Amino acid sequence: MSGNLEGRVALVTGSGRGIGRAIAEKLASEGAFIVVNDLDDDVAGETVNAIGALGSKAVACVGDVTTPDFGKRFVDAAVDNFGGVDIIVNNAGYVWDSVIQKMSDEQFEAMLAVHTVAPFRILRAAADFIRPAAKAEMGNGEIRYRKVVNISSVSGLYGNAGQMGYSAGKSALVGMTRTLAKEWGRYNVNVNCVAFGFIRTRMTQELGTGDAIAKIGNREIGMGIQPEMIKAMEQMIPLGRGGTPEEAAGAVYLMCTPEANYISGQVLLAGGGLIM
Ligand code: NAP
Repeated sequence: MSGNLEGRVALVTGSGRGIGRAIAEKLASEGAFIVVNDLDDDVAGETVNAIGALGSKAVACVGDVTTPDFGKRFVDAAVDNFGGVDIIVNNAGYVWDSVIQKMSDEQFEAMLAVHTVAPFRILRAAADFIRPAAKAEMGNGEIRYRKVVNISSVSGLYGNAGQMGYSAGKSALVGMTRTLAKEWGRYNVNVNCVAFGFIRTRMTQELGTGDAIAKIGNREIGMGIQPEMIKAMEQMIPLGRGGTPEEAAGAVYLMCTPEANYISGQVLLAGGGLIM
C-alpha cells in the first residue's frame, strides 16, 4: 500500500470509536500499520477490520490505558507485530465532570490517570525502543523522524467550568509535550499536541441520545451535553458548527507527515476558528 506514511507503525489509544478511530483509519489510509487500543474487545476489533478493508494492517491491544503495565504491552505489541514504533497518538480519554465542591478525589484522580499518567507511562515505555533505535539509525547515517501527538482540549488550554480534573489532565499534557520535545529532539522525534474544540462524538452527543453511558473499568459514566449548550458552543465557533471525527483526525495526520518534520513542541488548536 502506498501513501505518505508507508512503512510507518502507529499506536493510537482509544481508537475503537470516535476521534481515535478516525485517526487510526486516516493514518492507515496513508499506509501506516496500526496498533489499535480500546477498553472493549469488540469495538477494537471493528477498527482492526476497517483498517484491513482499507488495505493496511492492524492489531488490537485491548485494555485500560491507566493500568501500570499498559505502556509496555502497547509498545511490545507494535514491536512484536510490526517491528517498530514510529507514531504514538495519546488519544484515549473521557470526561467526568463536576463543579469543584462536588468533585471527589476519585473523580479528579481518574482524570489525571487517563489524560496525564497514562500518556506519561506509554511514552516512557516507548523510550526503551526509540532511544536505541534512533542511535543505531544515526550511527548508520540515517535520520528517521518519529512522531508523538498528544490530544488535548480547549478545556486544557483555557479552562472550562465543571472540568477541574479534565482541564488539569489536558493542561498537563501540554507541559509534557513541550518537555518531551526538548528531551527527544536529539532522537529526531517531533512531539506535538493537538487540542480540539467541539468535535461531534459519543462524548459530546446531545444528552439523552445514543450510547450515553461509557463503561470505564467498573464505573459507568454518563456522556453528553445539554442541547442548548451545544447550540451556544456552535454559535461561538467561527465556522459555525462542531467538527467531525474525520476533520479532527486530519489535524493529527498533519502532525504525522514528513512535511511536519521541523515542527516540535507545538500546540495546534483544531476548533473551527474557536479562540477563547
Ligand atoms: P469517545 O468517542 O468517547 O471515544 C473515546 C475513546 O477512548 C473510546 O474508544 C474509549 O473506549 C477510549 N477510552 C476511554 N478511556 C479509556 C481508557 N481508560 N483506556 C482505554 N481506552 C479508553 O470520545 P472522543 O470525543 O473521540 O475523544 C477522544 C479524545 O479527544 C479524548 O482524549 C478527548 O478528551 C479528546 N477531546 C474530544 C473533544 C470532543 O469535542 N469530542 C474535544 C476536546 C478533546 P470505549 O469505546 O471502550 O469506551
